[in-house]
Amino acid sequence: MRTPASEPLGPTDALVVPRFAGVRTFARLPTLEQAGRADVAVLGAPFDGATTFRPGSRFGPAGIREASLLLRPYNEPMDLSPFAESQVVDAGDAPASPVDIEGAHRAIEESAGALHASGARVLGLGGDHSVALPLVRAAAAAYGRLSLLQLDAHTDTWDSYFGAKVTHGTIFRRAAEEGAIDPHHSVQIGLRGSLYAPADLAENAELGFSTLLAREFDAAGVAGAIELALGQLRSPVYVTVDIDVLDPAFAPGTGTPEAGGLSSRELLAILRGLAGAGLDLVGADVVEVSPPYDPAGVTALAAANAAYELVGLLVLSGRS
Ligand code: MN
Ligand code: MN
Repeated sequence: MRTPASEPLGPTDALVVPRFAGVRTFARLPTLEQAGRADVAVLGAPFDGATTFRPGSRFGPAGIREASLLLRPYNEPMDLSPFAESQVVDAGDAPASPVDIEGAHRAIEESAGALHASGARVLGLGGDHSVALPLVRAAAAAYGRLSLLQLDAHTDTWDSYFGAKVTHGTIFRRAAEEGAIDPHHSVQIGLRGSLYAPADLAENAELGFSTLLAREFDAAGVAGAIELALGQLRSPVYVTVDIDVLDPAFAPGTGTPEAGGLSSRELLAILRGLAGAGLDLVGADVVEVSPPYDPAGVTALAAANAAYELVGLLVLSGRS
């Protein structure tokens, strides 16, 4: 019988059972049921009913899990063995209705809320970006108002779309209105693409977000992005990675691709740059991976690696 004092139950040993064998969990981690407890829990949010262009991200959690098979147990840049230090588990998928945005979000919030209540930090796998709203709500309910780091081509702070207040393009305005996030200590990196009008960015700035546009990233670079993030963020912190922050060359399999984005290497470097800065990361997500548009699996691979860095940050934050 496993007890809370047990050593963490790690991933299936790839030197005993090869990586391509076995039932798919994130990074071949044990399930929550197998481990019996969690310091960090990976939670799938397979819902794409609030997307506005290309669908398919309901298959994102499965795609990311498949791409995560090659993740190894030692994070070299962080000098960290996350699965040995902490109990990291795959908590499965929230039972999100495919035809009911409100109901799906409720299911995701309940699943994430139960994990937070057990003391676990939660890493969500989307799903369209709307799933970040219930994930943020659950984290804020447990830890208080959050400072958001959003890596995204889009602001996702529109007021509505076709009259709907909750879509994957409106969630962070909703989160700000509810007080779940504090836009004045929140940062968006990678914004780009054609807009409807100048007001799109002006209204986003009025809400209080600090931004680093993709074209500004040309000069600021990874170091400038990290400097902005560390200067603005305050604990508790939530990091949301919309995979469309990457250039379509690195992430074609996504709902609303925009040319001129970051490379996978730049994204991973920004995430690693948050390590050791004393920020308390309490939740995170990687969203908008759409496997039907990802024939070579490169988008899911980038997402799996971003998720691995986020697991490392969540484990580091759990040190007390
Ligand atoms: Mn986006
Ligand atoms: Mn987004």
